[in-house]
Amino acid sequence: MFCDEALDLVESIADGELTPEGRVAAHLATCPNCAAALDSARRLEQALRARPVPRAPARFTARTMTILRRRRWRSEQFLDVGFNLALGVVALAVVGGVVVLLNRAGVTSIGNGAMDVMSGGVMRLARRAAPAVPVYAGATALLAAALGIWWWAEKEI
Ligand SMILES: [Zn+2]
Repeated sequence: MFCDEALDLVESIADGELTPEGRVAAHLATCPNCAAALDSARRLEQALRARPVPRAPARFTARTMTILRRRRWRSEQFLDVGFNLALGVVALAVVGGVVVLLNRAGVTSIGNGAMDVMSGGVMRLARRAAPAVPVYAGATALLAAALGIWWWAEKEI
């Protein structure tokens, strides 16, 4: 057995957690360094035990728990506000993107196009809106992801 192995166990032996047996006991009996280390660890342990243990002030636990609860509540509020802001930004981006794309695709002319629709211009309107379809799908996916994150975060709390 090497000294470092024995020294690793010295503190556990000194505070009574461990009883030296076999190789450890043999090493401690024959190695003056490790025996001295154990001796000093035992003395330290005794000195610590001899010290008076200060009593906690009255209502210490209740006060600590109140402070902890208040801090936790504050951090949750902060998280909530931050999350709602982020969600708002995402929603704005989605709405903004859809508006821009509708303008570009000329779908805003649906009002004007209503006459076209009635006169059988459905295909023409669809053809105008078609290039933007992947973008609509993307925006829908983004919104779904945002709602999914929201649902997940609410579930966690
Ligand atoms: Zn040793």
